[in-house]
Amino acid sequence: MSGNRTFTMIKPDAVEKGVGGAILKQIQEAGFKIIAIKQTKMSLEQAGKFYFVHRERPFYADLCAFMSSGAIMPAILEKENAVDDFRKLIGATNPANAEAGTIRKNFAESIDKNAIHGSDSDENAQIESNFFFSETERF
Ligand code: ATP
Ligand code: MG
Repeated sequence: MSGNRTFTMIKPDAVEKGVGGAILKQIQEAGFKIIAIKQTKMSLEQAGKFYFVHRERPFYADLCAFMSSGAIMPAILEKENAVDDFRKLIGATNPANAEAGTIRKNFAESIDKNAIHGSDSDENAQIESNFFFSETERF
């Protein structure tokens, strides 16, 4: 059975462009409740830990450099079937392949600067939520 929470992060390209609020509006209008949110910045070391699963991929170094290059907005979201529904809402990794109306189609520039992250499983949603938020920051 799938859970009702997922984790997201508005990436540095989108925060820098000032579209964080517009993205959150689309997320809320799609029926997701914000359980926790903040604006922060990862160090290169933290980005390396967050994306550790991708350490063997050729883009790992660039990904970690980009994700620690500016402010991000991590958040925990709640909705029935949260992980899958949120992946549908954000669209394909490469915005060129993302369906019309998805967040990446609306706000992303390229496969590396793709505006937003969404957890790919309930287990990773929990791990990623714990990476950024304590229990007293969740409501
Ligand atoms: P995310 O985990 O950020 O939600 P995703 O699950 O759609 O994205 P992953 O395969 O987990 O995609 O890749 C993580 C991130 O690494 C992508 O969001 C993208 O920014 C970057 N990435 C993935 N594939 C490539 C690639 N071929 N070239 C450059 N960057 C890539
Ligand atoms: Mg992923």
